[in-house]
Amino acid sequence: MTIPLQTGYVYGPVVSRRFGSSLGINILPTDEKVCNFDCVYCQYGASVKEEDFSFPPAEEIKESAEKHFLWMQGQSVSVDWIMIAGNGEPTLHPKFSRIVDDLKRLRDTYLPGVKLGILSNASSCFKPEIQNALSKLDRCFMKLDAGYHSLFRRLNAPQGSSDQANLIWSDIIDGLYHLPKGVIQSLFVTGKVDNTDPKDVQEWVRAVDYIHPEEVQIYTVDRPTRVEGILPVEKQKLDEIAKRLTSTTGIPAHVFV
Ligand code: SF4
Repeated sequence: MTIPLQTGYVYGPVVSRRFGSSLGINILPTDEKVCNFDCVYCQYGASVKEEDFSFPPAEEIKESAEKHFLWMQGQSVSVDWIMIAGNGEPTLHPKFSRIVDDLKRLRDTYLPGVKLGILSNASSCFKPEIQNALSKLDRCFMKLDAGYHSLFRRLNAPQGSSDQANLIWSDIIDGLYHLPKGVIQSLFVTGKVDNTDPKDVQEWVRAVDYIHPEEVQIYTVDRPTRVEGILPVEKQKLDEIAKRLTSTTGIPAHVFV
């Protein structure tokens, strides 16, 4: 059992420890999860096949965002973040760059001072046009749950053959290495798939050290997952992982549970 999809292009505000109060922007279909991964822990269930959906027009997303931002301005509703996230992987939208430009302009007009960010699985950030669009955001929160590709395949289940998955893996590491203002988000789980084994953590530390992000956010599952038997990791273990990363690399790491 997973949670329902977002039914609009704008949702929230949502309050969380990681982001305070954030307004979500879903630039993907409202009736399907669209992602090139199928993470075992995904709260939205299985990804739809490419031929079974179409992306919403950028103009519709812009109109919906403008209506909400204007309303928020009028009501003096304040949020810490406008977060591009929603029903899957936002960078897959073919008009992603244009949508970022639109949202940035609308933010500057109606909600100046509110930070604009994204939650992404990092699979497209090696592409120059996506990297360019991401660099216009205040922060990019990018997924990296594993330090080597076979664990990445088990945990994040990228679409395509294992050769394609290996390619995606090296593109992700390369893209994250070159991404400005990147924050790594790493989710640890145990049970049917486990990425907390000391040797797995060691490889993850090595990968994060290479990428050298500004910060790492560490968390675990707290919602229903796509695959049964995927379990949360206790806070003490997450704290140990964070400590190990910071003591080895000097990169700040924060645990959110
Ligand atoms: S990357 Fe995000 S949306 Fe895609 S399958 Fe994983 S958790 Fe779900």
